[in-house]
Amino acid sequence: MSALTVQRVTKTFGDFTAVSDIDLTVAEDEVLCLLGPSGCGKTTTLRMIAGLESVSQGQILFGGEEVSAKPAQHRNVAMAFQFYALYPDLTVGENLIFPLAAEGLSKAETQERLDGIADTLHLDSVLQRRPHELSEGEKQRVAVGRCIIRRPNAFLFDEPLSRLDVALREDMRGSIRRILATLNRPTVIVTHDQLEAMTMGDRIAVMRDGRIEQVGTPQDVFDHPANTFVAGFIGTPQMSLLDGRCLDAGETQVTVGTDQMRWTLPASRFADMPRTGEAATVGFRPRAASLTPGGLALGGCRLVLSEHMGAEKLLHFDWHGQAVRVLTQDDAPQIDEICTVYLGDAAPHVFDNNGIRLRMKGDRQ
Ligand code: ATP
Repeated sequence: MSALTVQRVTKTFGDFTAVSDIDLTVAEDEVLCLLGPSGCGKTTTLRMIAGLESVSQGQILFGGEEVSAKPAQHRNVAMAFQFYALYPDLTVGENLIFPLAAEGLSKAETQERLDGIADTLHLDSVLQRRPHELSEGEKQRVAVGRCIIRRPNAFLFDEPLSRLDVALREDMRGSIRRILATLNRPTVIVTHDQLEAMTMGDRIAVMRDGRIEQVGTPQDVFDHPANTFVAGFIGTPQMSLLDGRCLDAGETQVTVGTDQMRWTLPASRFADMPRTGEAATVGFRPRAASLTPGGLALGGCRLVLSEHMGAEKLLHFDWHGQAVRVLTQDDAPQIDEICTVYLGDAAPHVFDNNGIRLRMKGDRQ
């Protein structure tokens, strides 16, 4: 089958640019999640791939063939806005074959497709039931079945789990992942939920203001965020990002910091060197910080909020006007108490004056 390629695609609505010069490739057996805040252009991108929205510039290709000018019905893509849009009065079997009505297949071919889908998705025993007689998991499998029975070139899902409650979402993420892995078609899922993207995507494209900020595997995007936006957007709780300066970029050591803190790292760690005197941002995950003495110390942190997160607490500190977060199992200090936060031997992320992450030696990217 065929990969999906989005090449230098831009979408404008009047004077407004909703999607700006984006490139994406989704392999034939790959699930790509488009992730980003509200209004960043995710749905518009999906709709252009589906043919429901024209492209203003650039090209969309399926298996190398340009389809940018083809209307939606000639692209043979399956687009689902959520997994639960089943017809309540039709049986499961009727729901499943509904999308085939326009294909002009013979009865025997239709039956063959239905048997195949029912077998793949373990729905054989419920084909005569109506949606209200199904479990949530069965409903979801029927909805997926309706998408795949047409054998489309690509699957496009817009916020597929957004209407489900938290417990069901958690359950569904895993089962959808397993089903998607069997489809062998390029699949694009739009979501603003990073957990969904991390668990369902082979790769994630993080979008902001119509642009793609980073594309990578969930692990890469988490471990090596390309810039401060991705660093702050991916990961719960959010990474602490401290604005400072590169105080000295020497041959053996690099010192970054602020008036209150100096962080010295071996220069040999840096694949990209910062420049002395330029602004720099230092980032670390809340799990890497603690109140137990060790490593770099951030003195004068005032506790402003303590949140219970089950076994752990998320402590929010004000450190000279900057936000520092610590995830800890220890008892929380009193609100307004002044504490020292320690960063142990955690390797910080360092971003340059444009917010771009300075690559470290050994980064996988
Ligand atoms: P959300 O997560 O809230 O659904 P999104 O990332 O999917 O957001 P889009 O729906 O793609 O964002 O919208 C991107 C931008 O384009 C938004 O600012 C939106 O208001 C604008 N936009 C979308 N469709 C149109 C349209 N038909 N006319 C004008 N502007 C539009």
